[in-house]
Amino acid sequence: ILESVDDSSKLKVAIVGFGNFGQFLAKTLARQGHSVLAYSRTDYRDAAQKLGVSFFSDANDLCEEHPEVILLCTSILSTEKVLKSLPFQRLKRSTLFVDVLSVKEFPRNLFLQHLPPEFDILCTHPMFGPESGKNGWNELPFVFDKVRIGNDERRVARCNSFLDIFAREGCRMVEMTCAEHDWHAAGSQFITHTMGRVLEKLQLESTPINTKGYETLLKLVENTAGDSFELYYGLFMYNVNAMEQLERMDFAFESLKKQLFGRLHGVLRKELFGDSEKLEVLQEKSLGKNGAALSSSPESVKIS
Ligand code: NAP
Repeated sequence: ILESVDDSSKLKVAIVGFGNFGQFLAKTLARQGHSVLAYSRTDYRDAAQKLGVSFFSDANDLCEEHPEVILLCTSILSTEKVLKSLPFQRLKRSTLFVDVLSVKEFPRNLFLQHLPPEFDILCTHPMFGPESGKNGWNELPFVFDKVRIGNDERRVARCNSFLDIFAREGCRMVEMTCAEHDWHAAGSQFITHTMGRVLEKLQLESTPINTKGYETLLKLVENTAGDSFELYYGLFMYNVNAMEQLERMDFAFESLKKQLFGRLHGVLRKELFGDSEKLEVLQEKSLGKNGAALSSSPESVKIS
């Protein structure tokens, strides 16, 4: 599966946003034999050269190379600004736009709103990163939604060639709508990132007696700490389901504390008041049954 693809499937892919994740993807694209170009606001000339990628510091120059695919790897927060700044008129009329943002409805709507109608749109989310995918992508999920792919045979083939980059590496290809993705991702990925960041704040350290469970927690911190806070903030701000999940986590923590403290309260009461409470209850019951007449009886005074 690690061999180079045959010539007919080779693509000219321009990565826009050549940071952490853009470079991570570029490595595999270049290894498969695709022609990879890159553009970013930061000068990544040296990093690009090491990966066999042609780097452009001007978006006009990049677009004039007529890439078949524009692959947006920008941060969620900067995507709208970057997309609007691209000189679409310099691209071929048939260009495939792909994004890898960790939220999906947001880029889908942006693409539909800003891209010329003759451009194809594929929204994707590789559900792994430089840390979780460092030993290969086999069995790792890759979500995609063919939002707008023209009927033309060549457009269909181009989209399939792009998807094949991930299928060839053994990814588990999952086709679903952007809305479905955001629903599932908030209930899984956003919770994972949040727990990782909460644990990071606790500054957990390895001990001489780590349990397997604790090792898993340390791994989770390691996995999420490598991602920028901007990425995490994007997961929160640009997924309509994230707030609900944050509130659920808050609620779950509070209810767990109540459960613990509720039991503790019971034990403490028993220790403090012993059996006298039971007698009080008995007395109250008998008061309830026999009315005011009993309340002045000498026995009841004795009991209390
Ligand atoms: P990120 O912090 O989300 O994005 C960094 C990228 O955004 C860099 O290329 C950076 O360009 C660009 N950028 C940020 N602010 C910008 C601005 N104001 N103007 C222009 N460009 C700007 O980190 P990332 O991990 O590389 O993620 C990139 C995308 O991949 C995100 O949308 C993320 O959701 C998605 N993704 C990430 C992972 C992961 O595990 N990291 C997994 C799946 C999907 P410069 O470097 O040139 O400043």
